[in-house]
Amino acid sequence: MEGRKQSGLVKKKRWRAANNKRKRKDHKKANGQTVDIDEHFDVGGEKLMHPGDPAGSANQIVKCRCTMQAVFDEGNSSDLVSGLNKEAQNVYTTAMHLKMTYTQ
Ligand SMILES: [Zn+2]
Repeated sequence: MEGRKQSGLVKKKRWRAANNKRKRKDHKKANGQTVDIDEHFDVGGEKLMHPGDPAGSANQIVKCRCTMQAVFDEGNSSDLVSGLNKEAQNVYTTAMHLKMTYTQ
């Protein structure tokens, strides 16, 4: 797919709830929530830029295993790592870093 090279087309992001027993109710509810790339997700009434966003309370971010997807102009989505603009990639890297910190 050519979209991977056209990073400018990433318009939105989509919350993907982790599929495990510890999944929070709020995060299950947030699954599939799609917002503009520079907007916040609404997760249990908290505003999170990405899973594990330090702006959220520990209640919402510690041990969160949720991920995000990038959503392209056409409504296509792909794994967030590929074909991202820089800003979104930074967000993703931060999320991944936090995730590793909390799960170990
Ligand atoms: Zn989560």
